Amino acid sequence: MLGSSHIALSALAMTLIVGVRYLLTSGMFAWLTDKVRPGLYKGMKPQIGREIRWSLYSAAIYGIPTGVVAWGWQNHGWTQVYTDWSAYPLWYLPVSVIAYLFAHDTWFYWTHRWMHQPRWFRIAHAVHHDSRPPTAWAAMSFHPIEALTGAIVIPVLVFVIPIHAAMLGLVLGIMTLMGVTNHMGWELFPRWLVHGPLGKGLITASHHQHHHARYTCNYGLYFRFWDRLCGTDKGLGEFPATGSHKGQANAALDAARSAHSGS
Ligand SMILES: [Zn+2]
Ligand SMILES: [Zn+2]
Repeated sequence: MLGSSHIALSALAMTLIVGVRYLLTSGMFAWLTDKVRPGLYKGMKPQIGREIRWSLYSAAIYGIPTGVVAWGWQNHGWTQVYTDWSAYPLWYLPVSVIAYLFAHDTWFYWTHRWMHQPRWFRIAHAVHHDSRPPTAWAAMSFHPIEALTGAIVIPVLVFVIPIHAAMLGLVLGIMTLMGVTNHMGWELFPRWLVHGPLGKGLITASHHQHHHARYTCNYGLYFRFWDRLCGTDKGLGEFPATGSHKGQANAALDAARSAHSGS
């Protein structure tokens, strides 16, 4: 009984952590957007309200399995998460981070493509694309089915691939940062990175924005590997230079969306 109440507490605590983390990071980048692109989210209050509501539901869907696994890790030695720096060679630290990101990216690419079939799009993924164009608040704006596909990734991986707790924290940090910045409507990273050799392999806002504009390309999460391999990489999108992007982008987005969902 005590154990089961602890497990529920752990799930509740993790839900709160994920929810607060979302509000803080999305709030911070929304604030930054207002400073560097004033007026970009003008007239988007109703959409932002929806993005926050879906994201907070997602926080529970992400928090519960993570809380259960964290409880098992602390109380029963579940998972391959380790805290002793000498348990594995030092070179394994970056390798484990890349392995997690690549595994997550692979899962995301294929489930994302699956959710772009018209039937599943309407059921599970239309919520995410209702953000037209998305804002920094859309980072976790998913239908519960889509949130579930994302929420199980890390709780499963920690049983399969050994990782130091600090590197796991880094993976979660990268996940949070890219989830927010890929949706915020402008490019955070410098031009030399986005348009240089690194940008040919890495996904930033310029790449994901093109997914939200065109629907049928650029499905990846962190890397362009699967998009390039499967011929779905259609390069980088453009952001309007100034002002509200709602009006400028909306007509094209509406056309792309109705063609895609068959509605
Ligand atoms: Zn998106
Ligand atoms: Zn999509």
